[in-house]
Amino acid sequence: MPIKVLVNGGFGRMGQMAVKTISENTDFELVGQTGREYDLGASIRDSGAQVVIDFTHPDAVFNNTQTIIAAGAHPVIGTTGLTSSQIEALQKECESKKLGGLIAPNFSIGAILMMRLAKDIVQHMPHVEIIEYHHNNKVESPSGTAIKSAEILAKARQEKPETHLSKEVIPGARGANHLGIPIHAIRLPGLLAHQQIMFGSEGETLTLKHDSIDRQCFMPGMLLACKRVMEINYLAYGLDEVL
Ligand code: NAP
Repeated sequence: MPIKVLVNGGFGRMGQMAVKTISENTDFELVGQTGREYDLGASIRDSGAQVVIDFTHPDAVFNNTQTIIAAGAHPVIGTTGLTSSQIEALQKECESKKLGGLIAPNFSIGAILMMRLAKDIVQHMPHVEIIEYHHNNKVESPSGTAIKSAEILAKARQEKPETHLSKEVIPGARGANHLGIPIHAIRLPGLLAHQQIMFGSEGETLTLKHDSIDRQCFMPGMLLACKRVMEINYLAYGLDEVL
């Protein structure tokens, strides 16, 4: 039986691509395409959607996810901008309903692999900074991917307590600081979604670089997420958790 999927934010750039991808895949049935003017809860109930993909706006994503959970559908959240406390609150709501879902700041497999590699490297090269580049219509900065990457790096670095990092705070243009990891955000037309994670040590640097050059790169991970959320009973954060 194909999985019934509704796409919220279905008329935006990512949403339209998600609608097309779901429609063309026989493992899924597209049962809804909703936008700002729709009653999301009613659309989920009327369509019988089992999975709801959300590609909307950072200001709307928390309420949307609550609505999806309340309607008993599995959330697959591609929208970025959720705070840590909002993620925790949503995880509790899913836990109490034993409902599977996923919040994925980045559905691209390459970006996920970059984070996996970064986790290993930071244990040997703890001095690290993130530079992310996005199109100039991106609403928030830093990107959800950069924040997730910083969280992974900070956690992996903590696991090596012998690490000696400079405590010196250097004034000037040092970007944002998330959990002790500097993040520099560039916004320009001509870019889509790109990230470098740069490590430095005595006499050497190592840079991981990932480029999303077409939104198509997000689709395989999104489809995988739509299947995985049916098999788990908690709200995962990061595609890596269900890969
Ligand atoms: P977009 O082109 O602006 O599309 C967003 C769509 O959502 C628009 O049609 C917008 O309608 C609609 N919308 C806004 N608020 C809504 C609400 N409350 N309920 C329903 N629909 C609403 O943006 P995009 O480029 O598709 O990106 C959407 C999100 O996905 C962003 O947060 C972006 O960072 C994220 N993203 C994630 C990934 C990933 O791999 N996870 C990849 C790329 C992008 P209006 O036009 O009327 O405002």
